[in-house]
This record gives sequence, C-alpha cells and structure tokens, in this order.
Amino acid sequence: MSSTTYDLNIFPPSGTALKRAAELLRNGQLVAFPTETVYGLGADARNDAAVKLIYKLKGRPSNNPLIVHCSSKEQISAVALIEPRSLIAQRLERLSSLMPGPLSVILPKHPSISMIATGGLNTVAVRIPSHPVALALINQAKMPIAAPSANPSNYISPTTAGHVAKSFAGQLEMILDGGKCSVGIESTVLSLVSEHPMILRPGTVTKEELSVLLGEQVVSQAEKTICSPGQLPLHYAPQTRCALLGQVEVSEYPSSVGLIQFSGSSTNIKETLPGYQVTATLSETGSLHEAATKLYAILREFDEQNLDLILIEPCALEGIGEALMDRINRATNNADTSAAE
Ligand code: AMP
Ligand code: MG
Repeated sequence: MSSTTYDLNIFPPSGTALKRAAELLRNGQLVAFPTETVYGLGADARNDAAVKLIYKLKGRPSNNPLIVHCSSKEQISAVALIEPRSLIAQRLERLSSLMPGPLSVILPKHPSISMIATGGLNTVAVRIPSHPVALALINQAKMPIAAPSANPSNYISPTTAGHVAKSFAGQLEMILDGGKCSVGIESTVLSLVSEHPMILRPGTVTKEELSVLLGEQVVSQAEKTICSPGQLPLHYAPQTRCALLGQVEVSEYPSSVGLIQFSGSSTNIKETLPGYQVTATLSETGSLHEAATKLYAILREFDEQNLDLILIEPCALEGIGEALMDRINRATNNADTSAAE
C-alpha cells in the first residue's frame, strides 16, 4: 500500500469500502480503482448514463471506446458474444494463461453492454485485471466495469491513488487505494476479430508472446491502416515540453532542463552535457519492466517542477521497449498512430 494519508476521497480497500464502492457503481456513479496497469475510472458497463459520466469527467471524445473489466472467463460471456468452437473462441482459449493480466482483447459486443462504452462499435474491449482490489470490486458489484485510465483526457495515466486525487479531488466520491501499479503502463490491446490477431496498442504483453500462444501470425496496427476510432493520432503528455534526448541541440537548451534516463549505465550523459536541473533513472539495472512502473510517476514529478524542457532517453524497440517507446513518443509528440487517453 502507498503511504497516502486518507483524506480527500481515498480509501484503503477494506470490506466496508468495497461494499460502498459497489453500491455507488450500482447507483450509476463512478469509482476510481487500482489495476496492475494503471488506475481506472469505473462505471457499470451496462448503464449508458453512468458510462456517459466517465466521458464527461475525463473530457474524452465519445468515439474513443472504453475497456470493460471482468473478474472471470465466465463473466466474459455476458460482455461478448462468442460462438462456441469459433475461431474467436479458440483464440481466446489459447490466451487463457494471460487472463487475468495486462491484456485487453477485442471481441464481438454483447447487447447488454452500453453502446456508449464501445464508442458506437459492435465490438468490445475486454480485460480481466489481475489486481486483487479490481477483482474484489467487480465481484462485489456483480457487474462488468467499464473503465479507462483515471486521468483527464490527454494527460499522463495515474499509477497511484494520489495521482487520481490530484486530477479529480472533489469530483469523485471514492478512490480505492491499491498502492503503486505493478505494471505501470496501459494494457496491450489485441483484436481477435480481425483476419490476423492485431495489436492495436502495444503493452507489456508482447507480440512475440502472443504469436507463440496463438500459433498464428500476429500483426501490429502500425503495419495496417487505422481500424478503430480510438486509434486516431492523439498525444498524451506532461504540460511541460518533452523531447527525446538528442532531438534538441545542446546549444538550444532552455535554462531549466530535466533528464529522464533509462539505466544507471548511461550516467555519463549528465556528466558530458551541461545544465540539467533534475535527473531521474528509470531503472538502475536497465530493467524495462521496472522502467515501465516508474515512467508515469517520474513524468508527473518532473511536470510539477516548472522546467522548460524534459528530455527522455530512448530505449531499444525490443520486447516491452516497443510499448515504452510508444508512450514516450506520445509524450514527446512523435507519435504517429493509436490512441492515448
Ligand atoms: P483506455 O481506456 O484509455 O486504456 O483506452 C482503451 C483503448 O482501447 C482505446 O483508446 C481504443 O484504442 C482501444 N479500444 C477499446 N475498445 C475498442 C474496440 N471495440 N475496438 C478497437 N479498439 C478499442
Ligand atoms: Mg487512458
């Protein structure tokens, strides 16, 4: 658990708090809750009015669909229409070992799910999170929970309850505190309804891992044309200007510059270049998983320091490096495809 003081509307996930949160959801209200990826802003996925509140609070475009969170494979059948023994059913079965986990799959939508939640699409993104508080909340509320990340649209996703409170204090009755998110970046989004399974958003579940489990070719959306409204070129970014290290000439550095490095072995960067006010290292040992857990919190910290420029060292595009560079490219305005909400 984080060391948050329990003022504002942040609650430790006690039995009483979970009951109250479930009651709010049943009454069509919003509750913020932890998942292993980032904190979510949840509503009853079957209730149009409740789901509308999410879009309103986030300032999210209505055509950007939400992910619907379930607590079990059985519950998925109340969210998605899957013909037994169909190709989609077989694909889903092959991905069993990744669910619960940081993987969202696009499936044909069940009529009970709000069209507002899917941005008008007849498909739905479904995830079984592995965070025990998220699972407990879904079970207590006995409903699928539609939830995007609990941040204003186009800002950095929250990885602590405190981050959520900073954006939405006073506007949310309950923020359940489940500590720091253990993954730290948004889930991999994988379409199972396309000819080849297609990654619409990279995450910590990689294309290689998915190809092995599915036993078929997995394609990335970047290799295809845009196929969902939520995949328009949007950026999420700190308010401070961000750039990749090397993108700005040293002679053009403004007076206050922050540097985010990937690993401890790159410390010579700050010694050879002048003028960094603050520096942070995402992982001393060069672990990309550790870097993912820290990236958003460090971006938020730097954004609060009145810097003129934040420089981010790029990492190799291997394994989860692809997902990290996807998020960094958005923050530095180098993104060319897919959504950031
Ligand atoms: P977020 O809730 O912010 O993590 O964003 C969820 C992302 O999942 C959206 O921005 C879309 O890119 C993607 N997504 C959700 N539902 C669908 C769908 N039915 N079809 C295609 N992409 C989807
Ligand atoms: Mg989001």
